[in-house]
Amino acid sequence: MGGMRPVIIAGNWKMNGLPAEAGQLALAIAAATRYPEVTRILCPPFVSLAIVDAALAGSGVAVGAQDVHPEAAGAYTGGVSAAMLAGLATWAIVGHSERRRDQGETDALIGRKVVRCVEGGLRPILCVGEQLAEREGGRAEDAVREQLRGALSVVLAAGPFPTDLVVAYEPVWAIGTGRTARGADAAAMADAIRATAAELGAPVGGSELPVLYGGSVTSASVGEFLAEPSIDGALVGGASLKVDEMAGIVARAAVTAAARHASGTHPASTTGA
Ligand code: PEP
Repeated sequence: MGGMRPVIIAGNWKMNGLPAEAGQLALAIAAATRYPEVTRILCPPFVSLAIVDAALAGSGVAVGAQDVHPEAAGAYTGGVSAAMLAGLATWAIVGHSERRRDQGETDALIGRKVVRCVEGGLRPILCVGEQLAEREGGRAEDAVREQLRGALSVVLAAGPFPTDLVVAYEPVWAIGTGRTARGADAAAMADAIRATAAELGAPVGGSELPVLYGGSVTSASVGEFLAEPSIDGALVGGASLKVDEMAGIVARAAVTAAARHASGTHPASTTGA
């Protein structure tokens, strides 16, 4: 392992689109985002993983799942295990705030999902982010640090700090609302996330941990985040369903990737794409 932190753009399609349409959309996005220096990931619904994986073969765009079950196998109706995802996806989103909200996912449960990802060879994108009241009450950083500690303490009880981990900072009040965080606030949170990771034993003081921003990112807003050296890309929801938006977002990410390569200032991580 060595080199710069990657620049990552991950698209979370959420519960949108039918399998019959998913391959075409993935192909169109891959064709419009031909910047191999950016780690590009598309996360379709489970039922579209196979068709998207086939469509993206040879494109350099990776496939991610939107979730993974916290158990390895068993009587869990509707569940999808990490082992089932092998061969279909190389990444998995865990702890998305919509699942925390709708499925009551706790930090401990999310930590178990990260463990399954590590066991199954999936790179986890662990989502954290404060509620609006926490931001307004000056408790945003404490809330995010607590989420990280809660999930990662479970992970660390099972093994070493996962070097393949990516963290997505997604303030809940910014997801799907059209309202974004300020770039400087997101960067400060990214620094707090790395500091927490360092306290928990992340290698090289957490400096290798990629941190993405998520929350109403568009081609117009992504530059504010990518201009921050602490932020390594974006987890994109609604805009990831639009080819033109993804084209603009990845093109802007390529500018940051090129600048990082030119300056060589960002320490190590692999891309995993
Ligand atoms: C997300 O799904 O993680 C997300 C940030 O959604 P949106 O970009 O639509 O706010």
